[in-house]
Amino acid sequence: MTTPQAGTRGPIPAEEAGGLLTIDLDALASNWKTLRDRAGTETAAVVKADAYGTGIEQAVPALVDAGCGTFFVAHMAEAKRARAAAPNATIYVLNGFLTGTAATYLNFGIRPVLGSWPEIDEWAAFCRAQGKTFPAAIHVDTGMNRLGLRVADGMALRGDRRLEDFEPALLMSHLVSAEDPAHEINARQIEAFSAVAATLPGIPASLANSSGIFLKDMPRFSLARPGYALYGGNPTPDAKNPMEPVVRLEGRILQLRSAEHGETAGYSGAWTSKGRRRLATLSVGYADGYPRSAGSTDANVGQTGLAIVAGRRCPFVGRVSMDLIIIDVTDVPEDAVRQGDTVVLIGDGLDVDEVGTRAGTIGYEILTGLGRRYARTYRGGVA
Ligand SMILES: *Cc1c(COP(=O)(O)O)cnc(C)c1O
Repeated sequence: MTTPQAGTRGPIPAEEAGGLLTIDLDALASNWKTLRDRAGTETAAVVKADAYGTGIEQAVPALVDAGCGTFFVAHMAEAKRARAAAPNATIYVLNGFLTGTAATYLNFGIRPVLGSWPEIDEWAAFCRAQGKTFPAAIHVDTGMNRLGLRVADGMALRGDRRLEDFEPALLMSHLVSAEDPAHEINARQIEAFSAVAATLPGIPASLANSSGIFLKDMPRFSLARPGYALYGGNPTPDAKNPMEPVVRLEGRILQLRSAEHGETAGYSGAWTSKGRRRLATLSVGYADGYPRSAGSTDANVGQTGLAIVAGRRCPFVGRVSMDLIIIDVTDVPEDAVRQGDTVVLIGDGLDVDEVGTRAGTIGYEILTGLGRRYARTYRGGVA
């Protein structure tokens, strides 16, 4: 028998796990195809933050198999993992490159997204020193004010001699409020980006994220860059979700108990039992990435976190603890809920968007926070 080395972590067996996370790679592939068809252009996949919590090593090969050839990550460390999973893909690092790391991009065949003049200067100088034009994207900011050249600087790119030192392989910008089609900033960003792109007709252009693909007046440009919708998030929050669910999360019932009238449950006694209630304690908590903000008080019980038990929606009662959540199962028939059973925390119609809303956040944060103590199972994908 081998003794596991300290610090190594193998897969967690389902029977030992407090939570079971199932990731459907066929649904991921199908979502990518839906988005590609909808975009009507070449379609990349944004796989930053461990493919929105689903796992770069599993998600990237499934997406390559579906036909995806371009990937975006946020960090170089993620790009290296994506490269190992997709030896022939085009990979961009959205956060650009840190001074002195240009050679790493070259060694791994990764492309930086250049978002400032100093970055452009350094990449151009690096390429000049190598005597070769290596590809990079240029980010033009049209409203986010985080990364990217200002629009006026984007308009000045044409004829800039630095663009001869490297290969400007993509011109991109990012939408501020694409999930709100009525927001006036969408049209302003489309207009500003179109103007810059028109001055650089030889460079492929990319604007749409998941929600951008569904904007009625979105020009096609060359490349769409969806993330969230690939993983089942709703890119059209005001309408039915066109995507298939990718992530399912179940939590294990550790104990069933009852609370008498007037007793409280959980830290700070934030929830008080009205009459006799049957409670179940789940082996999932905020240390697993389930937000503490999904807990309830007497004032908002039912509006916050939920679990589905035998088809019924059961509210979280009291605070979410580090490792535990308490739910009220009074409405579930006694013989339909047993210690050791699992209940649904994401799935069966309780989607990541609703889980996010009920925790006062967004589905993106739910996905990227998915914990490391769950037993993970991947369905479908590449054999
Ligand atoms: C995260 C990100 C995307 C993907 O956005 P979604 O809303 O997840 O589809 C696209 N472009 C940039 C620059 C990003 O940072």
